[in-house]
Amino acid sequence: MKISKMSKSGLEVTELCYGTLTLGVLQANLPTEDGAKAIRKALELGVNFIDTAQRYDSYRHVGEALKGWKGDVIVASKSFEKTYDGMKNTVIEALQMMNIERIGIFHLHLITSKQDLQSREGALKCLVDLRRDGVIGAIGVSAHSAEGVMAVVDCDDIDVVFPIVNMKGFGIVSGTLDDMLNAVKVAKSKGKDLYAMKPLGGGHFIRQIPEAISFIRSLGIFDSISVGMKTPDEVEMNVSIFEKGYVPEEIARKIKITKKRLIVYDSCKRCGNCEETCDQGAIKVGEKKAVVDHEKCILCGYCASQCPVFALRVI
Ligand code: SF4
Ligand code: SF4
Repeated sequence: MKISKMSKSGLEVTELCYGTLTLGVLQANLPTEDGAKAIRKALELGVNFIDTAQRYDSYRHVGEALKGWKGDVIVASKSFEKTYDGMKNTVIEALQMMNIERIGIFHLHLITSKQDLQSREGALKCLVDLRRDGVIGAIGVSAHSAEGVMAVVDCDDIDVVFPIVNMKGFGIVSGTLDDMLNAVKVAKSKGKDLYAMKPLGGGHFIRQIPEAISFIRSLGIFDSISVGMKTPDEVEMNVSIFEKGYVPEEIARKIKITKKRLIVYDSCKRCGNCEETCDQGAIKVGEKKAVVDHEKCILCGYCASQCPVFALRVI
């Protein structure tokens, strides 16, 4: 597995990053042991980079997978916390839940604009202190929009940018794929480290994985690409794609490719939280319950985390 040394943070990460959004309550809600098995398989096959978040409910899977693991691992996490103390508690919680001593990258989760960055000044100050003390290795931001990326390009405290990029620009908010590519090029020129999220458009390109990965690679900008995986077989498939560029027949036979969907159960109370949360404009409150626009939905599951009656699920 190819390893890149990120230029600003100095972190050495594998080109394939294990995206754990798929494992927790927002998506498959796997038992801890099952999710851990998939992550452990990735570690055994040479992947050293794991992406998680406070919101993903996957610290339990990561912690279990890392039990007794002696190799180097870089864990990235994220939080929407805005205040100094809130962020400090969040990082401590992440360390404790994953039973690790250091977090490689801690992100401000989904920065949307300069004003948004300013509103998280306290959280950023906390991360600067934690980086100085060696508790985290680098500070990052994740972003769904070019504006979110541009908001941080001149902020010296930010080391890493984690934007959404895929071959059709699926899920990019308030702009086009070209807008996002121009923004990430600026970020690169200003010395930021970059890794990409949602190369498969949240599952929309599930039948075109080699092409989707080739597209990101061809840009020559990203040190790593985060891919969501749920099973050891899916891990094997993705490792093959990254190492060989194709899926060998014996692995392909084991994989059942199913397209995910966001489901709204009849227990929906029409409160509107999901509509307010979704930055893709992919869910609206209808006459009887919330209604999903599947063409726009990137299956992030963030709306499900805000539903008071658990009426939403990505399955
Ligand atoms: S958040 Fe849940 S209960 Fe509220 S409108 Fe959306 S699906 Fe319905
Ligand atoms: S509808 Fe829900 S799962 Fe789909 S993009 Fe919006 S927040 Fe994400």
